[in-house]
Amino acid sequence: MFKSLKDIVRKSSIHVCIVNCGGCNGCDVELVALYSPRYDIEQYGIYIHNNPREADVILVTGAVTEQWVDKIKRIYIKAPEPKIVLCVGNCPISGDVFNQEGGTVHAPVSDFIPVAAEVSGCPPRPSEILNAVLTIVPNAIASRGREKK
Ligand code: SF4
Repeated sequence: MFKSLKDIVRKSSIHVCIVNCGGCNGCDVELVALYSPRYDIEQYGIYIHNNPREADVILVTGAVTEQWVDKIKRIYIKAPEPKIVLCVGNCPISGDVFNQEGGTVHAPVSDFIPVAAEVSGCPPRPSEILNAVLTIVPNAIASRGREKK
């Protein structure tokens, strides 16, 4: 009973799991703005949390510090299909200001897990992040539809 109710709810919502793998938190502050009345991401049925086991989309910020190399792979394995990864900010794309000679960041994230889309910027605007999430949501829904057949 509980499982089928959960399936019904999941069918009409998209869950985004945020993973900060070592940034300055600037991008995460922009993500918080998505909850504000100005952007109101929940009006699209999109819920942000940090549970990879319920994630339709894995949203990655940060430059992949030494400690995150294995963690990001484990999180990706835990996520159910379709395992759509969205990189937000320059850090997961290139390491940005943290990518110094002799440093210990391991960007890009795409070296460790498949990345579906990227939003560059330091930090990107909330509207750009929202547009990226809404762009990849149809893929998440389509993939889920195939699973249910
Ligand atoms: S991209 Fe810029 S704002 Fe975002 S975590 Fe990296 S340094 Fe901070």
